[in-house]
Amino acid sequence: MLSTMQDAPLSIAQLLRHGASVHGASEVVTWTESGPRRVSYADVGKRCAQLAHALRGLGVEGDERVATFMWNNSEHLEAYLAIPSMGAVLHTLNIRLFPEQLIHVANHAEDRVIIVDPSLIPLLSPQLPSLTTVKHIIVTGSSTAGLEAPEGVQVHTYEGLIADQPTEFDWPEVDELSAAAMCYTSGTTGDPKGVVYSHRSIYLHSMQVCMSDGPNLAQGDRALAVVPQFHAMSWGLPYAAFMIGASLIMPDRFLQPAPLAAIIASEKPTFAAAVPTIWQGLHLYLEQNPQDISSMREVLIGGSAVPPALMHAFEADHNVSVLHAWGMTETSPLGSVARPPAGVTGDAMWKYRYSQGRFPASVQARLIDDDGKVVAHDGVSVGELEVRGPWITGSYYGVDAEDKFNDGWLKTGDVGSITADGFLSLSDRSKDIIKSGGEWISSVDLENAVMGHPDVTEAAVIGVPDEKWDERPLVAVVLRAGSETTMSELQQYLSDKVAKWQLPENWAVVQEVPKTSVGKFDKKRLRADYHEGGLEVTRL
Ligand code: AMP
Repeated sequence: MLSTMQDAPLSIAQLLRHGASVHGASEVVTWTESGPRRVSYADVGKRCAQLAHALRGLGVEGDERVATFMWNNSEHLEAYLAIPSMGAVLHTLNIRLFPEQLIHVANHAEDRVIIVDPSLIPLLSPQLPSLTTVKHIIVTGSSTAGLEAPEGVQVHTYEGLIADQPTEFDWPEVDELSAAAMCYTSGTTGDPKGVVYSHRSIYLHSMQVCMSDGPNLAQGDRALAVVPQFHAMSWGLPYAAFMIGASLIMPDRFLQPAPLAAIIASEKPTFAAAVPTIWQGLHLYLEQNPQDISSMREVLIGGSAVPPALMHAFEADHNVSVLHAWGMTETSPLGSVARPPAGVTGDAMWKYRYSQGRFPASVQARLIDDDGKVVAHDGVSVGELEVRGPWITGSYYGVDAEDKFNDGWLKTGDVGSITADGFLSLSDRSKDIIKSGGEWISSVDLENAVMGHPDVTEAAVIGVPDEKWDERPLVAVVLRAGSETTMSELQQYLSDKVAKWQLPENWAVVQEVPKTSVGKFDKKRLRADYHEGGLEVTRL
């Protein structure tokens, strides 16, 4: 028997209509060199209509991809809302990708238009001649200075393009399963892979962001979205904020501790989200420059494990509660959130809060051991985490990646245990990607680059703890007998092969890279050697 319920599709247009009308007085604040710039949600709604008309005018039809190469700001929010609402697909380009990867993902997604912030023109410009499908570049603001378009590509200013457009748009009704937005994730080996979110997945995920046992974003909140809109959809905050009427505070390019402290002082956020390194930096800064930041009732931290000391420091020094969460680009990204069970206090409460958290009803989780068997959720047994649910990806865009799925479950590559009451604790990652300041560095790419040097016979890269960036790469190299190549020469050798921020500063010469039984580099052993002081590390 079928239900009698209406088949009303869940859509981004519905979020847009609702936020711009019911929550029209809420605002998005963008930080600039001269302080805050404010736009009400009612005006965001009008500007979204204008943007959609402008994009149609440029020929954007159907599910064509419109990419963004932007910081967190109000124009990026407009792109988030307008592009999917008109039926097109938003593609958030990661501004920190190495040029070849940027070219790969833009061509692979077949981006037709790119919206770029003026401050990012120098990063995008050199790549433009290699982007084979791009026909239009839109520069936010009112000037295209510094942008030289290759032949066949037209350049526009955002404000010029939308200025005379109507402030209403007849948003089409879209199939809720159709693509709304896409974001490429890292591959430990090979090219980044595309995750495509649907209208339905984003809508349901937004509801989760507002659930009281989830991040609990609420009407009346002022959410400081430090987590980039170009990485894992800013953890869903832009859509959830429009759904619930929370105001958004966008730091644009001002992500260093001093401007963040100024933003907090000026805008009094009640909620904020960022990776641990941002909060570590802010905490250190506030030690030297005391300031009341207790307007923030809670800060959501994820992307890599939150050190317990950081949680305690925020609570003790600033009366700000830290909420730990786990997720991936593939999971929209909200997976688990560490809200302890009601009534639990003291050490037991902290243990729950240190964990990666509990999965909501919509996300099923299981652990699989080396033999492929499901292990018990007893808080002790360990396995690789696999997840399933309406906002978990079931494939990657345009590539065959069957090895990433197991009977319909996403293999996360993360290893840990789950308690009987559903709390996940990650003990390791099966992948060896290095998380540096919330961004990833592929150890395999670095290894391949180092091993390109004629004097290097073997090179293995592991992530080692770093106070500022959480993790940085350490390269263990085996040099050809008799070679006098120094570590600085090797670092110099890499300088035109990897992005500057990925350049390793930790180096160790070893006799041999330890190997597993099947002859692969044994990075577990290498890590143990490092932690036991068995590696002589040169820090450059
Ligand atoms: P990304 O898709 O770039 O967001 O990276 C997702 C990966 O980040 C996960 O598979 C984990 O390895 C890691 N990660 C995310 N959140 C946490 C967390 N709370 N603790 C430990 N690792 C995390």
